[in-house]
Amino acid sequence: MESSEAIITPNRLALYPFLPQAVAYVESLEIDLKELSTSPVFDDIIPYSVKTIKDAIRGVLKREYVEDRTESDIRLLSYPVTRILLSCLNDQRLIHRYAVGESKAARENLRRESEPLLMLITESMKIHPKPERTGFTLHYTEYVKIAHRMKERRWKLTNRDLRRGYVSIERDELIRLLEERIRERVMENMPVSVSEEMCRDLQPYIEEIREALSKEGRWGEDVEFGEISMECFPPCITHAIKSVQTGVNISHSTRFALTSFLLAIGMKTDTIIEIFGSSPDFDPEKTRYQIEHIRGSAGKRYTPPSCATMETFGNCKGKNRLCERISHPLNYYRRKMWLEKERKQSS
Ligand code: SF4
Repeated sequence: MESSEAIITPNRLALYPFLPQAVAYVESLEIDLKELSTSPVFDDIIPYSVKTIKDAIRGVLKREYVEDRTESDIRLLSYPVTRILLSCLNDQRLIHRYAVGESKAARENLRRESEPLLMLITESMKIHPKPERTGFTLHYTEYVKIAHRMKERRWKLTNRDLRRGYVSIERDELIRLLEERIRERVMENMPVSVSEEMCRDLQPYIEEIREALSKEGRWGEDVEFGEISMECFPPCITHAIKSVQTGVNISHSTRFALTSFLLAIGMKTDTIIEIFGSSPDFDPEKTRYQIEHIRGSAGKRYTPPSCATMETFGNCKGKNRLCERISHPLNYYRRKMWLEKERKQSS
């Protein structure tokens, strides 16, 4: 295996600024963070940090490889600056969202890394998998430490192939575990201690982030769905509709998930009945009764199931990249609608 220096150049470290090697590299540059608000060195770094946080807020944070050393240094130096800005804001929800964004961006890049580099990064994050003929094995204690927070059924130890204390995992699963560990690492010791004076000097940047946060609230929980846009439906719902329309007899749980989702976004009962019109066992009156029941005619209004529940019942179909950033099909729809609106406004 190549040595760590040969594999992780500073340019590559800029993809993973939370790694201990990246922290050591930044320290070696001997740039004093106390001069954050006064030194011109930070003129490009702070805006890069603000952009990173705003991208995380919008759920579009990406880290791309750059050849240019100055540019990659800016990106590496921006990591501690981002932590400082987040600490001045001291908003746990935002810190969490940033950590999720950073870990998902890392996951995207890790998928493309060579095996030796993947191993090096994994070990830097204190995970010690053993390469096998196909995939890896991981000691169950390490596995459980990370996987116990992952809700999908497949991560439960009882659903895994466990031999002599080692759990078999595929490459993509190792990267998913790594993503979880990275999220934890990014959140570690946050918020950091920052002087009031420094936060005061960074005020214009902090305001810019606050504004992005309040804008984000518009696609948050309180958003009105308005006109229905089927192009923005999550893949699971599109799959369920296609199944119904091609005459597949869908399960009770799929029917419930589909109906409750369509009701939650404001679709009328008659339109939902039309969607179910191609079901092999279609009975308009029975369908209307079921829809009205879910809508709350008997006093209890049902809400659509979360992604974790969808997964449990085998209804999470066609998961895509946006799915990685949400935990509820309604949030998928909200976010997709918002992204579409932004795209139209900027084109
Ligand atoms: S992750 Fe959620 S939104 Fe995406 S397909 Fe699965 S259940 Fe649907």
